[in-house]
Amino acid sequence: MGQKVLIVEDEPGIADTIQYALETDGFETVCLASGLPVIPFLLRESVDIIILDIGLPDINGFELCKEIRKAQAVPIIFLTARANEIDKVVGLEIGGDDYVTKPFSPRELSARVKALLRRTKGLSFPSGSNLTFQIDESRKQITYSGKLLDLSRYEYALLKTFTRRPGHVFSRDQLMDLCWDEPESSLDRTVDAHIKNLRNKLRAITPDHDPIVTHRGMGYSLKEEP
Ligand code: CA
Repeated sequence: MGQKVLIVEDEPGIADTIQYALETDGFETVCLASGLPVIPFLLRESVDIIILDIGLPDINGFELCKEIRKAQAVPIIFLTARANEIDKVVGLEIGGDDYVTKPFSPRELSARVKALLRRTKGLSFPSGSNLTFQIDESRKQITYSGKLLDLSRYEYALLKTFTRRPGHVFSRDQLMDLCWDEPESSLDRTVDAHIKNLRNKLRAITPDHDPIVTHRGMGYSLKEEP
């Protein structure tokens, strides 16, 4: 089965054109003609990429993108009609990954969809989850709550280890063995220092939520999301 594209576009002519082009290229598509049903839809079904019109009848595409980003890191391509919208998208304040200006060629859009999916390949976008981590093993990158983290080698290794077993308490020695190449030459407090940096980076994204739990005298764990 092909990858699934959610098309959010209120003009039926444009939606049909996009749908036809993508299905010709082997994608599975779902169309929604307004913005408000998108969040409930994403809680039920997962999609690989979203094509999002900015001028929707019920909610602005930018606002909708922010709502989607609170829960998911799914790639988003904006459809824009106006120059002032483009400025905003290009400024990347919104969290979209790419944009296409109307009028556009359906083939160009399809090519953009493929390129973006290639770029984000290996990431997983669990549906309905919140504050999740997406790990891209090949790039050694982790996305947290929709934002890419800038991690050092050890921070990456630590976080990857935690995400494999949420709730499990790892001792400093275990973390050292799992994450360091030469554990015997490092000190316990090295782990603490890296955890501290990692925490700061996560808190910069979610100031009210610290996903790493300290267990005094035992070690650290990743908070299990409800
Ligand atoms: Ca529109």
